[in-house]
Amino acid sequence: MAVIRKREKPEKSKSKKTKKSKSEMTQINKNEITGINKKTIEDINVSGKRVIVRVDFNVPMGANHQIMDDSRIRAALPTINYLIEHDAKVILMSHLGRPKGIVNLEFSLEPVALHLSNLLGKAVFFSRDCVGEEPKKLIANMKMGDVLLLENLRFYSMEEKNDAIFASQLASLADLYVNDAFGTAHRAHASTEGIAHYLPAVSGFLLEKELKGIGTALQNPDHPFVAIIGGAKVSDKIGVIENLLKIADKLLIGGGMANTFLAAQGHDMQKSLVESERLEWAKEMLSWDIAKEKLLLPSDLVVASNMDSPDAAKLVTPEAVPEGFAAFDIGPKTIEAYSEEVKKAKTIVWNGPMGVFEKKGFEKGTIDLAHSIANAEGFSIVGGGDSVAAINLARLASKIDHTSTGGGASLDFLAGKKLPGVEALLNK
Ligand code: ADP
Ligand code: MG
Repeated sequence: MAVIRKREKPEKSKSKKTKKSKSEMTQINKNEITGINKKTIEDINVSGKRVIVRVDFNVPMGANHQIMDDSRIRAALPTINYLIEHDAKVILMSHLGRPKGIVNLEFSLEPVALHLSNLLGKAVFFSRDCVGEEPKKLIANMKMGDVLLLENLRFYSMEEKNDAIFASQLASLADLYVNDAFGTAHRAHASTEGIAHYLPAVSGFLLEKELKGIGTALQNPDHPFVAIIGGAKVSDKIGVIENLLKIADKLLIGGGMANTFLAAQGHDMQKSLVESERLEWAKEMLSWDIAKEKLLLPSDLVVASNMDSPDAAKLVTPEAVPEGFAAFDIGPKTIEAYSEEVKKAKTIVWNGPMGVFEKKGFEKGTIDLAHSIANAEGFSIVGGGDSVAAINLARLASKIDHTSTGGGASLDFLAGKKLPGVEALLNK
């Protein structure tokens, strides 16, 4: 294995004694939060270089290694094409599924290489190992503008452990590192974080688009800023709620998580999904002045005895959930009130469906609100696997300003957490 010198950590700019204005100071802090100040592939010279790119090719696979949805592969094309056009050797790496650190060809990326080759209209080489002699030889034989995909990184347990030796082995294949995998940017793995300590590291176009898309809302939102948070459980999104409550002007709560808040207000939610271990947190949150001012909860609910009997569904207020019933959607008054807020907003962030939208009879809250968001004038951002699925179901994707590709990463980002895969990149 080649020994590579660890890249020196960039020296922190020494604080000069010149005082900065308050607005400049906040600007700097906010840049730190969002990573908007990171270098991209356009800020470095890639021509004639071996460029290793972390992409997110973790696509859903059906039987016989059939790719069920190639949107993640397509999302990486702008970066790949840029590198091809600028005469780099393009070395792609990704994980697929959860092979748990052992070679399991069920999770091989080879079908992805074939699919990518069709999308690019050119050959894509494939290395059956992501480190070691095989990729080294293949890369040595590549011409500038050629593309190679490495086998699944997670065939090695060292990937998720962010093992330094494994990271340096990956780094030894290239001259430059590009991270274009927003979906894993919230994880400090060898291919997302570790490798950036051994090579000049910049972001690709997809990562940059995500950082700008969500970062704009967090850094410098136009007001009113309205956030809509839903989904099954409040426990998945506590950080997001706490952070958005600080920076948004209104926080609209729907979906299963609304039930925990309504229960915290003292309503008997019957069989609704209520997280009893979060009741205290919800009670405390509701007591905050900022919540009284900003937080909106459903005023009516669609309830049923189970989610497979929409015909027997009833419309009730939170204080009147019938015995043995559960809330599966928000009602028309809530949809109207939430849509009014969305209409007035200049910035809209939506994460999490308003109800069990996969089931007939409980999709109205989610789909109607999706339409309100799509038709609103404000800058709209939608994140989260199920929320994006709802947008696609309603064929509204083209009317959303930024649709995020990363579930966990967008949640961490919205929660105000630093993303290790972004932090590791060079600053502008
Ligand atoms: P996202 O993927 O957009 O972040 P989540 O994964 O948090 O969203 O939540 C989506 C899930 O929440 C969906 O499967 C939906 O059926 C479920 N859900 C929404 N409302 C309710 C509810 N009232 N009761 C139970 N589950 C709900
Ligand atoms: Mg989900």
